[in-house]
Amino acid sequence: MSLTIADGMVVSTHYTLTDEDANVLDSTDESGPMVYLHGADNIIPGLEDALTGKTVGDRFKVRIDVEDGYGEVLTELMQVVDIAAFEGVDTVEPGMRFESENEDGEFELIVVKHVEGNKVTIDSNHPLAGMVLNFDIEVIDIREASSEEIEHEHVH
Ligand code: ZN
Repeated sequence: MSLTIADGMVVSTHYTLTDEDANVLDSTDESGPMVYLHGADNIIPGLEDALTGKTVGDRFKVRIDVEDGYGEVLTELMQVVDIAAFEGVDTVEPGMRFESENEDGEFELIVVKHVEGNKVTIDSNHPLAGMVLNFDIEVIDIREASSEEIEHEHVH
């Protein structure tokens, strides 16, 4: 009997993610398969919905709108900070990425958008926020999660 994807399953997939102009944004070719716990908000809602009910060997394409992906770009996640905040960095330039710990103790990626004198505009939106995402995805493995994985809401 083959398993189908449902809540409480650990799912392994290969995928290629492209934007609306067919530029490859991400692919499991280099990073190895994406393994996640289904039904625990480990992945974006649009992708989780598309995978529900699929089985090993299924390969399909899905186009995910902004609201079912990483959401809109939020201006409140853009901030202007003093360059003194980048202590130890020789030259602060647009495009630089930093990891920063937020109030909840989670690490988030900060991208430098703009530098003018001592003022640096930083953006902590998800890099894929505001984008329509096209996945070409293949299910390569499904197994039942352990009770510990379910409790922790992630794969061990
Ligand atoms: Zn854990």
